[in-house]
Amino acid sequence: MLKRLLAKASPILGTPVDWLGLCLLCRQPCDTDPLLCHWCRTSLRQQEHRCRLCATPLEEMWPLCGRCQRRPPPWDRLQVIGDYLPPYPWLIPRLKYGGDLLLAPLLARLLADHLTLEDPPEAIIPVPLHWWRQWRRGFNQAEQLGLCLSRLTGIPLDLRVIRRIRATPQQTQLSASQRRRNLKGAFHIAPHHYQHVALLDDVVTTGATAGQLTRLLHESGIARVEVWALCRTLPHVK
Ligand SMILES: [Zn+2]
Ligand SMILES: [Zn+2]
Repeated sequence: MLKRLLAKASPILGTPVDWLGLCLLCRQPCDTDPLLCHWCRTSLRQQEHRCRLCATPLEEMWPLCGRCQRRPPPWDRLQVIGDYLPPYPWLIPRLKYGGDLLLAPLLARLLADHLTLEDPPEAIIPVPLHWWRQWRRGFNQAEQLGLCLSRLTGIPLDLRVIRRIRATPQQTQLSASQRRRNLKGAFHIAPHHYQHVALLDDVVTTGATAGQLTRLLHESGIARVEVWALCRTLPHVK
């Protein structure tokens, strides 16, 4: 298994022998972490103060940006590593489309470093792929991140509550309103007893998927839904 993972990762990591014990990003020897050296791990931290709801960096220490005060998104909190800036436009597609599963623990570790967990959710729920897309891709990147994040935080992973019952066309080229239409009737929520959960996705772009799922989870009786993602791409999500 490890051999297969290393072989898959070799185009970006060099040969497995080259890679072992070296930082994934700068290839210097790693000290404490098997994937990232202390310098890269520290320098990748984006520590700006951010809006609690849309993660826009804020100059003042307000909890919310002006737009979220006027038109808040449906979730209670959005937590991300930061903006979709290098090296993330390189790392995240390598995981998602390149199948470099070794990147899942690395990215999950970076997200865990950024999470505020004073009141932790009862479960981490990755945004599901339709079974057909998951079968073709061989994995769901949000699920892979969730497995690692669950290990790092001790919060259980739930793969049962949300099911994608309709395959939807790729959303990459769609506008926010097209995305909302595209997602109608796409998910089913199974019975549960949760009050507070974290919905996990790789990147929040328009917030259409996270918004739709948050509304469905609220309707199913969950009082508080947080959205966790590696990065956000837009100046403001609706
Ligand atoms: Zn490094
Ligand atoms: Zn905001």
